[in-house]
Amino acid sequence: MKILWIILGLLGLFIVITLIRAIFFKEKKNGNVKLEPEKVNLEKYCKDLSDAIQIKTISNYDRELVDWNEFDKFHAFLEERFPLVHKTMSKTVVGDASLVFEWKGSDESLDGIAMLAHQDVVPITAGTENDWEHEPFSGYNDGEFIWGRGAMDMKNHLIAVMECMEELIAEGYQPKRSVFICLGHNEEVVAAPDNGAKQIAAYLKDKGVHLEAVLDEGGAILPVKLGKLLDINLTGVGIAEKGSVNYKVSVNAKGGHSSQPPKHTAVGKLADVIKDIENHQFKATMPDYLKQLIKRVGMNAGYPLRVVLVNAPILRPLILAIMKRIPAAASLVRTCTAVTMAEGSPQFNILPQKASVTINFRTMPGVTIKDVENHIRDSVKNKDIELEFLTGKESSILSPTDSKAFKTIKELSEAQNSKNLVTPFLVMGATDAYNYEPVCENIYRFAPFVADTKLLLCTHGTNERIPISCCEDAIAFFKRYIRRMTKD
Ligand SMILES: [Zn+2]
Repeated sequence: MKILWIILGLLGLFIVITLIRAIFFKEKKNGNVKLEPEKVNLEKYCKDLSDAIQIKTISNYDRELVDWNEFDKFHAFLEERFPLVHKTMSKTVVGDASLVFEWKGSDESLDGIAMLAHQDVVPITAGTENDWEHEPFSGYNDGEFIWGRGAMDMKNHLIAVMECMEELIAEGYQPKRSVFICLGHNEEVVAAPDNGAKQIAAYLKDKGVHLEAVLDEGGAILPVKLGKLLDINLTGVGIAEKGSVNYKVSVNAKGGHSSQPPKHTAVGKLADVIKDIENHQFKATMPDYLKQLIKRVGMNAGYPLRVVLVNAPILRPLILAIMKRIPAAASLVRTCTAVTMAEGSPQFNILPQKASVTINFRTMPGVTIKDVENHIRDSVKNKDIELEFLTGKESSILSPTDSKAFKTIKELSEAQNSKNLVTPFLVMGATDAYNYEPVCENIYRFAPFVADTKLLLCTHGTNERIPISCCEDAIAFFKRYIRRMTKD
C-alpha cells in the first residue's frame, strides 16, 4: 500500500514538473534580424516561367529519344530573357545540354557558391493528358496559379535563380565569392549514364574549384496547422538523401513437369525468403536532425502539445514505435525494404528451376551497399540463396547544420516569415546535388516556395502548378542568400 502511495506521489510530482516545464518550453524568437527590402519584378518572372514551361525539355534514359531541339530552344530562351547574366557571367555547355554560368568573385582566395537547378522535366503519363485542367505545356497563368509540367519541379526554381542573378547584376552588385549557376539536363532520369550534374561536378573539379556551398531543390515550405495546437511553416532543408540499392535473391530447384511437383517448388521456397526479409526490417533509430525537428516543433506548439513534446526524449521509444507503423514516417528513421519484382518459371506447367525476387532498399546515411548485403544474408534462414547486386547508389554525406550556408538559410527564411521553422531533414529521392560531394561538403536541398501537400503531390503528376503568391518571397530569398553568402 505504502509503495502505491509513493508511486502515485512520484507520478503526481512528474506531472506537476511537466506542466511547469511546458510553460517555459518555448523558443525565443529572434526578432532582431531585419531584412533589407529586395526589388523583385514579379510580372517578368511570371511571364518568363510561363514561357519556360512551354518549352518541352523532357529527358529520357535513352539520349537518342531526347528532342535536343527543345534544349536548344531553352538555351536561346535563357539568352534572350537574361541578357545581363549572359553578358557578365561566362557560360559553358557541359555534356549534351547542361549549363554552367560563372560569375567571378573579386576575391579569388574564397571558395565560390553554386546554385543548382535542372532544366529537364518528366513527360506526361500517356492517357492522362485530358485530365489536366489546363494543357500541361501551356504555362497558363490564371492569375492565381501558373500551370504546367515543371511549374514546381523545377522551372519555378530555375527561373527564380536566373531572375535574381539578372537583378543583382542590374543593381551593380559585385560578389566577393564566385557564383556558379549549374543547370543539369537529365536529373529526372534516375541513374542516367551521361548524368549532366555528375559531368558538371567533374568539370568544376578539373578546374580546381572547391565550393563553400551548394543549394539545390529538395525541401519546401510546408504550412502545418493543427487547430490551436500548431500553426507553423515547416521549412525543411535537406541535409542528406537516402541511397537506393537493388539486390536480386534467387532460389534454385530441380525443374520438371508440373504434374509431378515436390512439396515446395523454387517459388515456394522463395516465399520463405521473402517472409524472412520482410519480417526482419532494418533497425529504426532516431537521427539527430529528427530530434532537433521534434524539439523545435514542440517549442513552437500550443501549450497542450508542449506538455507532451517537452518529454520527447523520454517518449522516444514510443515515438519510434508509432513512426515504424506509418510508412511515410518509417522511411525517415530506417533503411526501407521493398520487395518489388518476382519471377518463376516461364510457363504454367513448368516447374521453376530458378525463382528470383528483386528488392529495393532505401538506405539511411551511414548504411552502405555492403551493409545491405550482410543484412540480407543475416535475415534469410535458407543459406542456399544466390545473391546478386544489381544497381545501387550510396546514401549521401550528411551536411552540417552549423555551416555558414545552413545558418544563412535559417536566418533569412525565419526572418522573412515568423511562422517559418527551419529544420534539417532527410530527402527521400535523388537530387543532382548528390553529385557535388567531390567539390563541396555543405550541400543543401531547399526550395524557398510555400507549397502544401496537395500541390507537392501534383509534381510529376496531373495539374502541376505553382501559386503565384509564393514567388516574390522566393526570389527575394535567393537574392538575399547570394548577397549574404558572397559578401565575405
Ligand atoms: Zn526535380
